[in-house]
Amino acid sequence: MKITKIRTHPLFAPIKEPYWTAQELSKGVRAILTEVETDEGLVGYSKIQGAPQTDICDWIAQFAELVVGRDPLETTEIWEFLFGLTCPRRRVPYAEDGLPPPLPRSARPQTTAALAAIDIALWDIKGKAAGMPLWKLLGGSNEPILSYSTGGYFREGREMLACVDELAGFVAKGYKAVKCKMGFETMEDDLKRIAAVRDAIGPDTKLMLDMNACYDLRTCIEFGNRVSENNITWMEEPLHWYLQPRDYAKLAANIPVNLAHGERELTRFTIRDFIVGGGINYVQFDSTRHCGLTECLRVAQICEQYGVFIVPHHASELHGHVAAAFPNASFMLETHGDPERDPVWHHLFKERAQVKDSYVHLNELPGIGIEFDWDFAKTIAA
Ligand SMILES: [Mg+2]
Repeated sequence: MKITKIRTHPLFAPIKEPYWTAQELSKGVRAILTEVETDEGLVGYSKIQGAPQTDICDWIAQFAELVVGRDPLETTEIWEFLFGLTCPRRRVPYAEDGLPPPLPRSARPQTTAALAAIDIALWDIKGKAAGMPLWKLLGGSNEPILSYSTGGYFREGREMLACVDELAGFVAKGYKAVKCKMGFETMEDDLKRIAAVRDAIGPDTKLMLDMNACYDLRTCIEFGNRVSENNITWMEEPLHWYLQPRDYAKLAANIPVNLAHGERELTRFTIRDFIVGGGINYVQFDSTRHCGLTECLRVAQICEQYGVFIVPHHASELHGHVAAAFPNASFMLETHGDPERDPVWHHLFKERAQVKDSYVHLNELPGIGIEFDWDFAKTIAA
């Protein structure tokens, strides 16, 4: 089998009420769909995130020229080849080997997103070629996987305590775990919000806090100690973006709350140092942002070896397969119980994993088990 063509479709679904995390304003949900066609008629699909979308689509088009003609089942070979383009090859001038010069350092978020788009679609082809869903191809079984719903985003004009009804609403709909966004105003505000949320959702619901990098180390130690009485499953991305594995390790050693991190990390190598340094217990690598499923499976292997959990960020329809393949290391998946928050996940698919009573149920379709609603996709073409 050979790859014959790769196409991309950038999407942007505006949302009615733009929302803030502690870090940034979102006016809608972006996605890039990629189709990888083969000479045997099998087509692989992926949905990734990232920006600027035009840059990522340009990188996918450049990579496409280099992988057309290759066997799509050689996922590791193709991954290593494309990832290898980010590094010097000691062949100056570079044009001699017919490949592009080392990919620019400034474009790493976009080149690793482009790699993800192709890699994930190749895994879809691999499953379809084998006639198996990925969870089975990877050796897992189709057990429902616990998921949580994220809420508590800040919206203009909405009261700080609006998160209480929102998160309790997810629990009323069947969710056994919820995650609340943090870091919009003062520490005292955050502590009040969390105490009110815990009160509303009861003692048995798991509660995670997504800090979106709002604290320095010293202040976060104070926050972690004060918030711990609310039985917090994890504090996610608690520290400012520039702080490193040793800072996470110091935080972890000084508070009675476990830490989560990884959605912004580009590769398994930085993730490894957060794990080995003892800072984090929950690893949120997002294969739809960087480096794809091949890399996510490697991250999951490291998690398993070090006794920490793989809890991938977003994309439960894809990451559910990783959870199924690593039953000893999987714990939960992220979903969005509010269709207003993620219209793409709620409306883009004709087929995908389903969430019922807080559990993700993968399907029996070969590959990732997804089918896009292209009519809907056209309405949100970017
Ligand atoms: Mg997060």
